[in-house]
Amino acid sequence: MEKITFQMHRGFHEVLKARVNEYFATRAIRPRDNWQMYLKTALIATWVLMSYISLVFLASSWYVALPLVLSFAFAICAVGFNIQHDGAHQAFSNSKNVNWLMAFTMDLIGGSHVFWRRKHNILHHTYTNINGVDEDIFDGSMFRLSPDQSRKKIHRFQHFYTYALYAFLTLKWMFYDDWKSLFRVRFGKADEQPRISNRDVILFVATKAFHASYSLIIPALFHPIWLVILFNLLFHFVLGFMLAVVFQMAHAVGDVAFPTPDKTTGDIDNEWAIHQVETTANFAMNNPIIGWYAGGLNFQIEHHLFPRICHIHYRPLSAIVQKTCAEFGVHYQSYSTFLKGFVAHFRWLRTMGKAYPFPETATS
Ligand SMILES: [Zn+2]
Repeated sequence: MEKITFQMHRGFHEVLKARVNEYFATRAIRPRDNWQMYLKTALIATWVLMSYISLVFLASSWYVALPLVLSFAFAICAVGFNIQHDGAHQAFSNSKNVNWLMAFTMDLIGGSHVFWRRKHNILHHTYTNINGVDEDIFDGSMFRLSPDQSRKKIHRFQHFYTYALYAFLTLKWMFYDDWKSLFRVRFGKADEQPRISNRDVILFVATKAFHASYSLIIPALFHPIWLVILFNLLFHFVLGFMLAVVFQMAHAVGDVAFPTPDKTTGDIDNEWAIHQVETTANFAMNNPIIGWYAGGLNFQIEHHLFPRICHIHYRPLSAIVQKTCAEFGVHYQSYSTFLKGFVAHFRWLRTMGKAYPFPETATS
């Protein structure tokens, strides 16, 4: 297949960009470098540190440690949703260094911003829900998330086992995928992926060591090792599950589109911005607590349209996007609550696990 392209222009993106620019200009507010975001970052950092200190140095029994490990997992999740994600998209600040530092929080919590960015910013954000390119839906054999993926017998049960596998997401990322990517770019075929700099390799190894020392070695000095390992597993199960569910609810649901490019030209018969709206779903848009915690990931449509705008603006921008979608006849999918989005993803897993033929909505 040729390179995938979006040939159609209906003027949707131009109108939307003009309206969003006007929103910022008339209110004299900045898309990035907002004090609200700096305050939020400080609050989340405090939450992380307080949870960690209490968990490792103050907790004297497992039943005190249990709520603290959950608090730590939710706090780290908040770092990913809010700080790292905005930084990686250059949406935190106008300063490249500040954005880099915020994206680098991913390495501090055990991941790798270099490899995450390649997969997320380029493949997922450009080719959303296109089978074979968007790695968020290309999960190989265990999950079937798009009608264009072939079905295996095991998929019949995927709406049950998928959730258990989500719990292993961050463990797989941190201890397998990142290292595999590192070896591939250092020792694999030169044209396969862009190389990474020596500085990034040193930072990669140093931050992995840093992560191992604060998550395993330091706690093991104060607590039995089996408890440390058990709580690390629990931490990753919560983190992996939360991250996976929030990301999947945005695209792997039956009310969004899974377009197929033309087999010979690679052409997607749509305007890029409309493709972004039609392949994405929002949830709990009127819930201020979810809005604060999920970092605007419940406003995924706005995030996909304006990834370089800080997520704190997505709620007001959603009114502009909805109005423009209505004018251009573009379907804007939003689930009123987290639970409705959660159920939609469950149903989609079940639908994709069934044998052919699919209901019409699944192939549109
Ligand atoms: Zn993103």
